[in-house]
Amino acid sequence: MTTAWSALPLGKRPAGRWALASRFAIADLPEGRRLITDGEVVIESDRVIWVGRRFEGELSARYDMGDALIGPGFVDLDALSDLDTTVLGMDNQPGWKKGRVWPADYADRAYEMYSQEELAFQKRYAFAQLLLNGITSALPIASLFYRAWGETVAEFEAAAVAAEDLGLRVWLGPAYRTGGVILDEAGTMQPVFDEERGLGELAAAAAFAKRVQGSAGGLVSGMFAPDRVETCTEALLHRTFAHADELDMPVRLHMAQGEMELQTVRRLHGMTAPQWLDRLGVLSSRLIAPHATVATDDDLLCYAANGVTVAHCPLVSARHGSSLKSFSMLKAKGIRLGMGTDTAPPDMVLNMAVGMMANRLAEGKGDAGSAAEFYDAATLAGADALKRPDIGRITPGAKADIAVFDMADRMIAPRIDPIQTLVYGATGRVTRATIVDGRLCMRDGAVAGIDLAAARAQVQTQFEGLIARYPERTFGHPPVQEIFPPSYPLVENEPSS
Ligand SMILES: [Zn+2]
Repeated sequence: MTTAWSALPLGKRPAGRWALASRFAIADLPEGRRLITDGEVVIESDRVIWVGRRFEGELSARYDMGDALIGPGFVDLDALSDLDTTVLGMDNQPGWKKGRVWPADYADRAYEMYSQEELAFQKRYAFAQLLLNGITSALPIASLFYRAWGETVAEFEAAAVAAEDLGLRVWLGPAYRTGGVILDEAGTMQPVFDEERGLGELAAAAAFAKRVQGSAGGLVSGMFAPDRVETCTEALLHRTFAHADELDMPVRLHMAQGEMELQTVRRLHGMTAPQWLDRLGVLSSRLIAPHATVATDDDLLCYAANGVTVAHCPLVSARHGSSLKSFSMLKAKGIRLGMGTDTAPPDMVLNMAVGMMANRLAEGKGDAGSAAEFYDAATLAGADALKRPDIGRITPGAKADIAVFDMADRMIAPRIDPIQTLVYGATGRVTRATIVDGRLCMRDGAVAGIDLAAARAQVQTQFEGLIARYPERTFGHPPVQEIFPPSYPLVENEPSS
C-alpha cells in the first residue's frame, strides 16, 4: 500500500512507523555516503529507523514522493534571520556611505529602528524562509546596524517560540559586543568601546542560552554569538569562551572577513584576528568562524591546528567580490568547513552552486571541488561543527531531519545524477518538502504555522519603514534616493505627450 505523498499531514508527525519513498535517497551507511535508487527512509517519531531499497517490516503508511531526491536537511551555520539589508548595498557602495557604519552624531543617539513586535516577526518569517529552502538546522545571524547596540533576550525568547511553532531546529543566542566602529566628523573610521555594556549583554546572553538549552522537545539549543571580531574586547572573548566551555556550547564569531576588520584589528592588536585569538588561547573546535575570505596562510594554520570550523557563505562573499582561497585548499589543509546562507535569498542550493564556481575560479581548475563535496559540507560538516552526529545525515538512529528536492522540475530537465542536478541545475526553489524531528514542516511552499502571503505583505511594509530611516544613520545624512538610487532613472508618472 502506497499513499500519495500529498496525504502526509502538514505540521504533524505521522503516527507509527512510516516510510518516505522516492526515486533517489541518500543513505549514510557505515561504509560511507551512498545514493540509493528507488529507495525509502523509514521514520518513527523523531528518528530515522531504517534507510534502503525496500523496508520489509510493518508500516503505518508509505508515502511516495515520485521523481525526487530525499536527503538530509541542510545545516546552516550562518542562517539569515532578518529582512536582509546587505542586498541593499550590493549595487550601492561603499558600505560606509550607505548606512553600514554609524556616523559619530548618530552613534550617540542610536536606537532600535524596529519595535519588539517587528523584531519577533522578522525572526519567524526568516525561519519560514529557511524551511522553504530545505534548511533544518540553523544558527541565526542578523545585522546590528539598525539596532541600539546588540540583540535582545526578548527577541530571542520570541525566536525560541517561533522555532517551536514552525518546527525548525535552532541554536539561539543574542549577538552582543563591547565595541564598534564609527565614522568621525572627517569620515575616518574609529573604533569605540563600551565594555560594561557588552559584558552586561553577555551575562544576559549566557543566562538565556542556559535557560533554552534542550527546550521545545530538544529543537532549541543555546549558543554564543559575539558580533564581528573587531567589536570584541579581550575580556568579552575570554568570558564568552569560559561560558561556552562550562555549558558545552558553540561560539560563532565573524573574522578574517574584510578590510574594515583587518585594519581595525591590526591597529588595536598589531596582528590579524585569528592570530589575536590564538594568542588569547581561545581558538578551539567550539568556534565557528565565518567567512575566512581574507585569512592568511598563518591564520589558516591556526584554524587547522585548533579544529576551528569555517562557515563558508559563498553567495554573500561573491557578491562582495571575494571568495575563500579556496574551498579545496582549506579542505586539503584539514580545515573543518561548513556552510551558511547569511544573505537573501537564504538558499543553500544556490550557495553550493556559487561555492562550486568560486572554488573553480580560485583554483583555476575545472575539476576542483565536486557537487558531492559541497553537499557534504552543507550537511555532514555543519553537523560535525555542532558536535551532533545525529543530524546532517540519513542513518538509523539519526534525527528525521530531511529535505526533499524535485528531480522532475521542468526548468532543470533532463535530470542527470541527482546531486549534480541539484548543484548545477537548480536553486532551493525545487525544495518540495522539509521534515524536522519527524514532522512535516514545509510542503510545496506552504509552511505550517505561518500564512506566508500575509507575512510577505507585512515584510514589505516593515522593510520600507526601515529604509525610510537610513538617512538618520548614514554619513552626511543624504536622502534615501541618494543612498539607494534606482538602477535606472525613475519615471513615476505617465510621461506627458
Ligand atoms: Zn556572516
